[in-house]
Amino acid sequence: MLRTDVIVIGGGQAGLAMSRCLVERGIDHVVLERGRTAERWRSERWDSLRLLSPSWMARLPGWRYQGADPDGYMAMPEVIDYLERYARSFAAPVVEHAAVQAVTPAAAGYRVITTRGDWRAPCVVLATGACDLPRVPALAGRLAPGLTQLHTSRYRRPGLLPDGGVLVVGASASGVQIADELARAGRAVTLAVGRHTRLPRRYRGRDILWWLDALGLFDATPCTVRDLARARRQPSWQLAGRPDRLDVDLPALAGAGVRLAGRLADADGRRVSFADDLAATTATADAALARLRGRIDALVDAAGAPDAPPAPPPPEVIRAAAVDAAPRALDLDAEGIGTIIWATGYRRAYPWLQVPVVGADGELRHDGGVTPAPGLYALGLPFMRRRRSSFIDGVGDDARELAEHIVLRLAGARRQAAA
Ligand SMILES: Cc1cc2nc3c(=O)[nH]c(=O)nc-3n(C[C@H](O)[C@H](O)[C@H](O)COP(=O)(O)OP(=O)(O)OC[C@H]3O[C@@H](n4cnc5c(N)ncnc54)[C@H](O)[C@@H]3O)c2cc1C
Repeated sequence: MLRTDVIVIGGGQAGLAMSRCLVERGIDHVVLERGRTAERWRSERWDSLRLLSPSWMARLPGWRYQGADPDGYMAMPEVIDYLERYARSFAAPVVEHAAVQAVTPAAAGYRVITTRGDWRAPCVVLATGACDLPRVPALAGRLAPGLTQLHTSRYRRPGLLPDGGVLVVGASASGVQIADELARAGRAVTLAVGRHTRLPRRYRGRDILWWLDALGLFDATPCTVRDLARARRQPSWQLAGRPDRLDVDLPALAGAGVRLAGRLADADGRRVSFADDLAATTATADAALARLRGRIDALVDAAGAPDAPPAPPPPEVIRAAAVDAAPRALDLDAEGIGTIIWATGYRRAYPWLQVPVVGADGELRHDGGVTPAPGLYALGLPFMRRRRSSFIDGVGDDARELAEHIVLRLAGARRQAAA
């Protein structure tokens, strides 16, 4: 049995950020990673993916992008290299290929059982990722077995899919990017569109994420939002980190030949049906975008920024013809569609966590990453301490604050042991 003060589970950006904060505070710890450092960026992303946040927005504790293109969007090999160099920069104590199989309460802390030995520590930080397991709707189980179904985390490139048409379900960042890539590869693509957040890549001379940052939207804390559960389920933006900075919104996709449909409502064998809600969901997204543009324009006016380019005309809305053509039902065989890609997001799961801190909804119970179990913390969860908590650029502030919590907890435990 190996002993340390803090066991961090997960060697992605969250685990590394916490490790860096613990190193700065002189706290003995280990980072247990079931694969390699930055494993999810290696093995659960598609080949052409680039970050949708610009490189200057990859700030981590004691680390920032120093390459030649801070306004560009890192491709996956660059992200992996960025995080690997980060880990090396402070000699992060990462133990790779150590899959955690159980975390159980033990005297004055926790026992962590892994495929590479057992550990004991007073504190454990769960940094296993907000995008942990595919979230696929139950109706997927009602589709005929002969159809190819895969979640975006298993998609790699068009050529690896069976020939024929593709139904992409979900029109947030992954769904629109993959629909766009498949259409460009000559595939017939149908995109089932649910609730979504439309954003232009650039606005008034800046990357849109620069504006969201300037508006302070990423810094919103859980107590400032009316419906935290909804905020935590907020779909990702319709954005891509393409070098040409083109938008991948629905009008652009329709223009590229992608057939748009409403939310996927039901499935039975080789038939699927869609809700009649395409006009409503796109109108909601367009209205939200108009409000955002108004806030940015007000910020520009208030700052008296004479150099800012003028506000562009309102963006193109989806044409009535595309809405009218939205199918309500499809016979997948008749349409030549043999593949369904679930771009329906992620969920979290902690089957190895034998501590009663997981709610009936499968989510960890926590207050800003502090769980009800003393010494057990989480990092990198959606909207955990602020809206940016699960982003590369956001996990650092949370890590710093939780590291302070851990310092106090360890000091208290030492005082108790000495008494
Ligand atoms: C397609 C996609 C694109 C994204 N693009 C951006 C972007 O452009 N900008 C941005 O800021 N964010 C982006 N994100 C969001 C976020 O940055 C990523 O999800 C990121 O991977 C989260 O980092 P993390 O360290 O919290 O979790 P992960 O990177 O998921 O790391 C968790 C680690 O825990 C390990 N692990 C899991 N279970 C165990 C176990 N039982 N034992 C040991 N190890 C375990 C995993 O192997 C993994 O390495 C994107 C997410 C996705 C899915």
